[in-house]
Amino acid sequence: MDWVQLEGAAYWWVFVGTFLGVAIWETCRPLRPLLVNAGRRWRNHAVVWFVCAAGLALTARVSPVLAAVSAAGNPYGILNKSQPPIPFRWLLAVALLDLTRYLLHVGLHRIPGLWRFHEVHHSDPDFDLSTGLRVHPMEVLFNQAGYLSAILLLAPPVSAVVVSELTSVFMSFFGHANASLPPRLEKLSRYLFVSPDMHRIHHSEAISDQNANLGDIFPWWDRMFGSYLASPQAGQEGLVVGIHGKQQPMSLDIGFMFSHPFRRKPEAGNP
Ligand SMILES: [Zn+2]
Repeated sequence: MDWVQLEGAAYWWVFVGTFLGVAIWETCRPLRPLLVNAGRRWRNHAVVWFVCAAGLALTARVSPVLAAVSAAGNPYGILNKSQPPIPFRWLLAVALLDLTRYLLHVGLHRIPGLWRFHEVHHSDPDFDLSTGLRVHPMEVLFNQAGYLSAILLLAPPVSAVVVSELTSVFMSFFGHANASLPPRLEKLSRYLFVSPDMHRIHHSEAISDQNANLGDIFPWWDRMFGSYLASPQAGQEGLVVGIHGKQQPMSLDIGFMFSHPFRRKPEAGNP
């Protein structure tokens, strides 16, 4: 079994396992009541995810792992040299791939034409594991293009790309959980990985909160570049998620999610 097959098989185990684990966690210990029932949320967000996955399979037939395999012999690659030693290059690759995701996320917020598409993700009137599935197809294509370009440039160890991909799948559900870690673990996690409480701040309707905590796996880039925010303006209890004025059940309509970027101007506050 090669790396592409291995990642393909592991992807579904991580996807289904994390979904079930987080679903049980937030069903047993939900942090906030939902505006729209979970069944409708999960079904409609799954439709958006399926369209994105099918669209990506038809248009961009190169996966990150396949890109890493083909970049291994790139003479201009940064991380495929004999030095520094492989353990160091491996850790550096995982970190730089996450930095790439952070920078792409910053671009989605700062560039008006991109924000229109990313706003679909933020216009979810609730915040639960299914929010991770709510990504507009155009945003998926943008992220894929940026991420594949970074892999071709970095030429990272293939195993590092596999681990980074699987961790990102885990974080897409865990980071959007409608639940909180125990206080001690929550405090410690803020130095190691992005917790649901930390990412929830990014989904606040307050623009200053929205422009913070843009990290995907690690919180280091937010801390390094000054976009880390420990607590939202209104506190976790008073935090209102979504886009101001869009916190309505119709924001869950499948038609709304696909057509939203083409129907209106961006919200004032974000470009
Ligand atoms: Zn965002």
